[in-house]
Amino acid sequence: MNIEWHVPVRVIFGRGRLAELGQVCAPLGKRALVVTGKGSMRRLGFLDEALESLRASGLDAEAFEGTPPNPTTDFVDEGALVARHGERDLIVGLGGGSALDAAKGIAVCARNEGGVWNYVKSSDKDPRPIQHPPLPLVSVPSTSGTGSETTPYAVITNPETHEKPALISPQLFFRASIIDPELPSRMPERLTAATGIDTFAHAFENFTSTNEHPVAHALDVAAMEAVAQFLARAVEYGDEEARDRMAWASARGGASLALSGGQMVHGMEHPVSGHFDVAHGEGLAALLPACIRHFGKGCPEKAARVARILGEEPAKGAEDDPAEACARGVEALLEKVGLRLTLKDIGVERSAIARLAEDAMRTMGRTVRRAPVETGRDDLVRIYEESFA
Ligand code: NDP
Ligand code: MN
Repeated sequence: MNIEWHVPVRVIFGRGRLAELGQVCAPLGKRALVVTGKGSMRRLGFLDEALESLRASGLDAEAFEGTPPNPTTDFVDEGALVARHGERDLIVGLGGGSALDAAKGIAVCARNEGGVWNYVKSSDKDPRPIQHPPLPLVSVPSTSGTGSETTPYAVITNPETHEKPALISPQLFFRASIIDPELPSRMPERLTAATGIDTFAHAFENFTSTNEHPVAHALDVAAMEAVAQFLARAVEYGDEEARDRMAWASARGGASLALSGGQMVHGMEHPVSGHFDVAHGEGLAALLPACIRHFGKGCPEKAARVARILGEEPAKGAEDDPAEACARGVEALLEKVGLRLTLKDIGVERSAIARLAEDAMRTMGRTVRRAPVETGRDDLVRIYEESFA
């Protein structure tokens, strides 16, 4: 056995615990920059609550607003300038995965020379090493999905090349993540569904990855069971229990992602939301069924297990391939949460397929190679095509 296990995030979970932000941050810095999205956190009152909590604990706190969905290099670089100029010594990410990832990029670039693009792997270069420790990071997630609260990744889009790789470093773990389900409880239905499918994809991809990890495995099963039981309820009723369970599933999916790193569904989705204005979870929803049909034959027992978690019993006899049962289970889940979508439905153009496949191989090749069957560029082209039907 050869195992590493390193997920050093202090996770603070519970309703109302946003109020503890100041106390949590006080030992970490004196001048906080709160990185957030375009308006939901301000509108819902959570931004003011965060700033007040920080100030009540004696910190100087300022907001940096406007993170776009699928955060861009220029937004992160601008944030790093703001952090330097304001002599900020602590970065708080408050919002969806996009705000949390932008916060991570800003923490790196506030302390290291050059723009954030230098620090990711892109089609034409390897990442530059991060020389100086990033500013300490704390998060308060407002969606239940990306798991960014417990991963060492920040997904950043280059608006010129449309590549969307991840910045990866153990230095990107948040010192603490306050998961207060009051925040994601305010998500509208479609966002609840899309982010919940993101959590499912993390758990499912790690569970079936060739880079499997014993701790991740347990987290994956628990996260998939939570999605099967609570996602449709969170979308339809938004009751407290369903919301709490999904927020916790997101953190578990993220911790598992930190250990296993995902595989080809994410590898194929990043080029989609890099080139088109697509919500990450909706891109995953469009790709999941065809991906499962492609790689499920490489992991029949796991596919059968996931099918059962989703309430789909593989039929007896040789004809019913477990991958097919698993794909049916996922399609039924997508149907229940209103995300039975094709790539066409979410605005992707067929003419882009060759480019998407190339980007997936070049910037996300590592995740593609973790699929349980050997997967090349031609397979990706076929799966993108199938995902238009
Ligand atoms: P976003 O952070 O992009 O937010 C999507 C939208 O939801 C925004 O318009 C935002 O509004 C709004 N919103 C957020 N929270 C609430 C709320 N509580 N109530 C109402 N509206 C809300 O969505 P995701 O969380 O799905 O993050 C997606 C990003 O995360 C992608 O870039 C994806 O690639 C990345 N990701 C990162 C991972 C990691 O390990 N780091 C793993 C998986 C995905 P506003 O802007 O006004 O706040
Ligand atoms: Mn994801």
